[in-house]
Amino acid sequence: MAWSVCVVGSVALDSVETPSGNAPDILGGSASYFAVAASFLAPVRMVAVTGSDFPAGEREFLASRGIDLDGLVEVEGKTFRWTGRYHDDMNVRDTLDLQLNVFAEFSPQLPPAYRKSELMFLANIQPGLQSSVLSQLEDCRYSGADTMDHWIEGDREALESLLADVQLLSINDSEASLLTGERNMVAAAEAIRAMGPAALVIKRGEYGALLFTDDGVFAVPALPLAHVVDPTGAGDCFAGGMFGSLAASESLDGPALRRAVVYGSVLASFAVEDFGLNRLRTLSRADVTGRFQEFADLTRF
Ligand code: AMP
Repeated sequence: MAWSVCVVGSVALDSVETPSGNAPDILGGSASYFAVAASFLAPVRMVAVTGSDFPAGEREFLASRGIDLDGLVEVEGKTFRWTGRYHDDMNVRDTLDLQLNVFAEFSPQLPPAYRKSELMFLANIQPGLQSSVLSQLEDCRYSGADTMDHWIEGDREALESLLADVQLLSINDSEASLLTGERNMVAAAEAIRAMGPAALVIKRGEYGALLFTDDGVFAVPALPLAHVVDPTGAGDCFAGGMFGSLAASESLDGPALRRAVVYGSVLASFAVEDFGLNRLRTLSRADVTGRFQEFADLTRF
């Protein structure tokens, strides 16, 4: 029996434009990506909100992954919507439209059974809401959070208060610079870890990820892929793979964290191969294991 992972975050209908094409009104959101990725490795519970327009088929898809949806509440109104366009350099994207809709009034509540989750991930939402979830937990072994430029610039106080309470932060390199004023990632990591989280993952898109802990730094490349179709949600799938791996190994020691970062890279590498969550809809556990081995071969010397 693995530990269970609880995630709070957004469930969205995204419209995405990349150099490979367009995908309107597809399932997205930070919690959806995280939960589906983690579900390949461990039991997952999800706390989020949808509107009455949320397709029943997408809820069924999440349930088909074994995700516990007691915390996915549906309220009258429209689901959160995000529209984004990627540049030819897919590390760069513009948010063209963002409609909070039912998310504007969202106050996440953990169902009683979720309060004893061993692992908690606070996917990207307003940092005050992330803190409110953290305060509902009992006996949580490990909590991690993600954030974005929007909150670093617009809600810094709430973000700093959250950082003091989580054990891991997962952000991308430009966000690490924005948060600390440091362009150098080693300097940025030192500054962020001084704010609270003992572990820090800095995601560097196609260049991979760095894990900073008291044991030092661990680096994992991204899998070199010939075709990246849609990078949306790669960071959330990374975190899902990472927390799923920690839950499966029931350990938080140094080797478990390193292995988890590799599983994060594995799930992220699948996510970018098609629009939205499409690649993960047909993925098997054997595919995940196979690619974990590919990462081992990629880095062995
Ligand atoms: P990522 O590519 O990891 O940044 O995640 C993209 C997902 O985050 C998309 O599916 C969006 O629906 C979702 N998203 C975008 N902006 C926000 C926001 N302000 N709050 C919560 N989720 C968001």
